[in-house]
Amino acid sequence: MTVALIDTHRRDAYRVLAISDKVEPRIYGPQVRKFAGDVDFIVGCGDLPYYYLEYIVTVLGKPLYYVHGNHDRPEHRSNRTVVKEPPGGVNLHGVTRMVDGLIIGGLEGSHRYNQNPRYQYTQNEMWMQVLTWAPSLLMNRLLYGRAIDVLITHSPPFGIHDAKDRPHIGFHAFLAFMRWFRPRYLLHGHQHVYSNRTVTRSRYESTEIINVYPYRLLDLHFGREDG
Ligand SMILES: [Zn+2]
Repeated sequence: MTVALIDTHRRDAYRVLAISDKVEPRIYGPQVRKFAGDVDFIVGCGDLPYYYLEYIVTVLGKPLYYVHGNHDRPEHRSNRTVVKEPPGGVNLHGVTRMVDGLIIGGLEGSHRYNQNPRYQYTQNEMWMQVLTWAPSLLMNRLLYGRAIDVLITHSPPFGIHDAKDRPHIGFHAFLAFMRWFRPRYLLHGHQHVYSNRTVTRSRYESTEIINVYPYRLLDLHFGREDG
């Protein structure tokens, strides 16, 4: 029997390509290799076609960690197959994964605004998602000294990069999540950006919140002071 050793030593920096909500010509072509060939992994923040995610995974040859957005649906391919999840990706909803010493996890979906069964949550339902996940996050803190390093979501937190209409109201539970579990980063999408005056980076407690729409090449830093 072989035992897989998990590398739990967090490095000082990781480079990631984070994408959401919109198919970008700059990313959806072989030039993405030049632009983002040196990333450690790819982060999908939702509302993207699975063929797009699959293409990027294939061309970059890097792992994809993602959450679903409210518009995600099974994809009908021309060969009559139905693709229900992006091939080659790891769905992070309500779980954490140790990736080269980095603890990442996610929460999918948007605020509920219609009767579609999937990827929409009331504020109370999102509180339940967080509370259900909490024991495993606290176990991480016991084991590794920290609960989570990077939280990947589709929706923003309440009051930060969100909007007042029902589909775009952020989640209150994400604010508590940041206070309790202190991720260094929260990466989200869902909120489209049309002006370069729109705020897309904010800070709340120990967490830097970044709207990645439609794509961002990010260097995530974990200096000693950020512990
Ligand atoms: Zn969305």
